[in-house]
Amino acid sequence: MSVIQQSFQVPYSFNIIFTQSLFSPENKDFISFLSNYGDTSFQKKILFLVDSGVAEKHKALTENINAYFKGQNQLILADEIIILPGGELVKNDPQYLEKALLAINKYGIDRHSFVAAIGGGAFLDMVGYASTIAHRGVKHIRIPTTVLSQNDSGVGVKNGVNFLGKKNFLGTFSPPIAVFNDSDFLTTLSDRDWRSGISEAVKVALIKDLAFFEWLEANAQAMANREMKPMNEQIFRSAALHTNHISSGDPFEMGSARPLDFGHWAAHKLEYLSNFGIRHGEAVAIGIALDSVYSKLLGLISEEDTTRILKLLKTLGFTLYHESLAENDKLNLWEGLNEFREHLGGRLTITILEKLGQGKEIHEVDFNLMKLAVDQLKLTLD
Ligand code: NAD
Repeated sequence: MSVIQQSFQVPYSFNIIFTQSLFSPENKDFISFLSNYGDTSFQKKILFLVDSGVAEKHKALTENINAYFKGQNQLILADEIIILPGGELVKNDPQYLEKALLAINKYGIDRHSFVAAIGGGAFLDMVGYASTIAHRGVKHIRIPTTVLSQNDSGVGVKNGVNFLGKKNFLGTFSPPIAVFNDSDFLTTLSDRDWRSGISEAVKVALIKDLAFFEWLEANAQAMANREMKPMNEQIFRSAALHTNHISSGDPFEMGSARPLDFGHWAAHKLEYLSNFGIRHGEAVAIGIALDSVYSKLLGLISEEDTTRILKLLKTLGFTLYHESLAENDKLNLWEGLNEFREHLGGRLTITILEKLGQGKEIHEVDFNLMKLAVDQLKLTLD
């Protein structure tokens, strides 16, 4: 036998910059980042793709971007700013991935150039995926515009689209080179999208940080009232917890566990069962509630702590039950566990709660107990 051993490491490092009015002429955050990135001796191009939901509410955005780049010698803005639909549609319909790839080709975006995506989590997932498969990966910059994408999805390393009726079946682990969280975008979110992403903060608090959970309890009503200050603090703390978890754990998910996916096995299935009638974050809130009740039924957390979790989610404005949970005697939901295992491979591993602020991995789920958890969740509708 002869063997050549190959072994190397590729370090990744990127900043998540919290800012406001990103494309106002006075704000130099973005331009100075680009100007100083990589080899500064030659001209680079940048192509923007914008979520139509953002473009509709921020009418001056494209004009502001054009003005922001005027007079830049080392940076060439692509002639066109591409606007594509936002929301899950952009991950479900392959024509949008193709449109993103065609634009990357048309505007000659090479590995020294940049693709910047402005939009919600779904939009960033799709554009991130297009960027990482074009030329085997061009540099992508994320500018998340929803709560969920600023506090969770946009700060991570995953990209993807849905395929064969399965969430994120096609995708890559490929970090962006920078993330710019501009809080101004949040002001135009619908109440649903404003609320939706807070569930990811509740998730990460429940499995990692009791003090943050208590802070969320204290600030839930203010966030439900659309107060900006606690919302920004929540986003910062949640983004920091997510970022820290990714770098200290298993960033490219080589193992079977996805500890950050507490509540997500049911959430992913619910999105499909509801035909995407509910948002990802809304489904996550239900998934958290379900797995919290399940943790209680296993005797891990108390009735009192379970009530605190459900109360927090309800104060934030979430509905904690969806009729599709019970469809087909709950077998449709149950199928979600198989799909979750399939997606990760290896041994089924899901996170439930050991106590408030601490997750616990389990490898088996008792169907009858899960059915009971669904029934108990239904009572929260009263
Ligand atoms: P979303 O991207 O589906 O957007 C929801 C709606 O808000 C869309 O209609 C969009 O057009 C609109 N919108 C976006 N920004 C807006 C703004 N500033 N003002 C007004 N409207 C705006 O929702 P989301 O919650 O941001 O993202 C959910 C997606 O994120 C799901 O596809 C989920 O799978 C994915 N996700 C990915 C990761 C990851 O690690 N990559 C993690 C969690 C979730």
